[in-house]
Amino acid sequence: MAASSLVTEAVWKEIVSTRSVTDDQLSILHFLFGKNFERATRIVDQRGVKRISGELSGRSVFQVTGESRKKEEYFCFPEHYCACYSFFYDVVNRGEQICCKHQLAARLAVSVGACVEVKVSDEQLALLLSKF
Ligand SMILES: [Zn+2]
Repeated sequence: MAASSLVTEAVWKEIVSTRSVTDDQLSILHFLFGKNFERATRIVDQRGVKRISGELSGRSVFQVTGESRKKEEYFCFPEHYCACYSFFYDVVNRGEQICCKHQLAARLAVSVGACVEVKVSDEQLALLLSKF
């Protein structure tokens, strides 16, 4: 894992354990993610992160609303995957970013407890996932 990813993981862990973000952590995240981090905080401020959980299994997927006027929604696994174009282009294809703004927004929202929680049956969750 690249050094920048390790630093990021350490920062997220700290944020999760304290449930708040200090100025120092903010500057580290901003340094690592730049504009994407600003966009992610805007998404969180607009309550754009939904965590959809299966009632019995507790498994979950995130649905993140983009901050552009079109308000597209993307399915997203904060640590591994996002359905947006930038994830495929900047993260997977060119390797220029560690993650996209939706993944960042999801992690930030989880860390500070700002997700909109949606409970569905496991069947509904499976149906959602099958549409990926
Ligand atoms: Zn994305």
